Amino acid sequence: VLLLSCTPDSTNLSYDSSSQESSPLSVPSKPLLRTLPLDGHFNFEDIQYAAKDFGGRYHNLPFAVLHPKSVSDISSTIKYVFKLGSASGLTVAARGHGHSLQGQSQAPNGVVIHMESLRQPKMRVHNGGSPYVDVSGGELWINILHETLKYGLAPKSWTDYLHLTVGGTLSNAGIGGQAFRHGPQIDNIYELEVITGKGEVITCSGKQNADLFHAVLGGLGQFGIITRAKISLGPAPERVKWIRMLYHDFSMFSRDQEHLISRKITFDYIEGFVNINKTGILHKWRSSFTPSDPLQASLFKSEGKVLYCLEVALYFNPHESNVISKRVNELLSELGYIRSTLVMSEVSLVEFLDRVHLSEMKLRAKGLWDVPHPWLNLLVPKRKIGDFAKEVFGNILTDNSNGPILIYPLNKSKWNNKTFLVTPDEDIFYMVAFLPSAMPSASGTESLERILAQNERIKSFCSTMLPEVKQYLSHYSTQEEWQSHFGPQWEVFVQRKLEYDPLAILAPGQRIFPRTS
Ligand code: FAD
Repeated sequence: VLLLSCTPDSTNLSYDSSSQESSPLSVPSKPLLRTLPLDGHFNFEDIQYAAKDFGGRYHNLPFAVLHPKSVSDISSTIKYVFKLGSASGLTVAARGHGHSLQGQSQAPNGVVIHMESLRQPKMRVHNGGSPYVDVSGGELWINILHETLKYGLAPKSWTDYLHLTVGGTLSNAGIGGQAFRHGPQIDNIYELEVITGKGEVITCSGKQNADLFHAVLGGLGQFGIITRAKISLGPAPERVKWIRMLYHDFSMFSRDQEHLISRKITFDYIEGFVNINKTGILHKWRSSFTPSDPLQASLFKSEGKVLYCLEVALYFNPHESNVISKRVNELLSELGYIRSTLVMSEVSLVEFLDRVHLSEMKLRAKGLWDVPHPWLNLLVPKRKIGDFAKEVFGNILTDNSNGPILIYPLNKSKWNNKTFLVTPDEDIFYMVAFLPSAMPSASGTESLERILAQNERIKSFCSTMLPEVKQYLSHYSTQEEWQSHFGPQWEVFVQRKLEYDPLAILAPGQRIFPRTS
């Protein structure tokens, strides 16, 4: 095993991304895979879907798709690939819901594991002193929400969109508007069951096999496949006050966001977004929100301006209605938003957490969901957010009105620093997410080339002027770039890879380590 005999430095594991797309199978793996005794099955035909993802730009056809019915199906498959050794060049990628952006859940000419087929363990809520739900790694977060609500409970930390799998978000981090208080999803896990790149099934937690536990959380699928997770739960509120307001001034907007995340009594969810030259923003919100001052709101003009929207939510139960209204008023009175732009809504927890699904259905109906998504996610330190905003929203994106741009601060002191999630080296940093859709035959602001060029300008500005900025859901084409992304963590990252996936079989679509041959 080549990698096991290597010292963990980048020369021994160096990676030329151009070598990835065509790892030829030099052994008759297909007939042999067919003979593996499984509870589930392999598919060798009709597998084109596994060569696609939400990003819509990378298409690597696998050699086979495994539909596992049991953990041992996955373990046997990986053991088999591991035994084939380096000669086969075969890789294995877990595919959650395929919502990656740059082929991260694809396995060029390898085996893709369709994690949603794994229905074990059956989802079970444990309602004790520290309640948790025990779920399969292929479970969708939306299903977890519905199941846990039956017990009056729910996970505490969410992504903005719930039709993603547990294994998929835990491999990245799972960051959303509750993370300033609870940390990302990876910080809300009690225990995992993981299958390593050697096919071993290992249970791990902060106390048991802790190295593997912390490596897998935010580990980009490099160290093992998550087959099971115990996710921490808290009491679920019934209702949510959902509020938006606009700002002209970025420094006032960010000052208010930072004030809110540092307050002890505050909102339960805090995000924000940037609107550049959008027409009739308040009018468009009217289907879901009521303006607090309808007359003034109707006079407000948003076109031709850069406006910052603070979005917050407060959870409550119906009997607390009065107290909550008082708290909302108190919190809002401390903020410097444009008074006429305040809009509010009251919805159920499911309506609030599953809000992006509504947009998904509308876009799907118009054929606008399955289009390329050249998204860019950055983590920007608080100290630099003003410089970042000035250049990016003031200069680079002046005529861009395509897709949401999220921006909200996060509080690192609440996060677990033992995982491989890379964040700026500052207590408070901002998530800035550019989420455009590219229209296939469009020109102008919606064309793929134009958006990609804009992303490059933003990245290039950051690398020259703000090197402290880090990518989230990162994508690089050379190992040197990955090494620089991980910085001082790189050496340990490589050591863990040698330990848990020495043949670099797992998650080849991340393009971090080449399959050894
Ligand atoms: P996939 O894309 O299928 O897989 C992602 C990676 O994880 C791949 O490398 C894959 O091999 C690996 N993987 C998948 N399953 C497992 C497993 N069981 N064990 C080990 N590795 C595995 N992210 C946020 O943090 N916050 C957000 O608010 C947010 N909102 C989003 C909204 C939309 C509309 C979309 C499309 C994405 C959003 N994301 C967000 C990004 C999302 O978290 C990632 O794209 C995530 O990877 C998607 O999960 P998935 O189940 O589709 O994983």
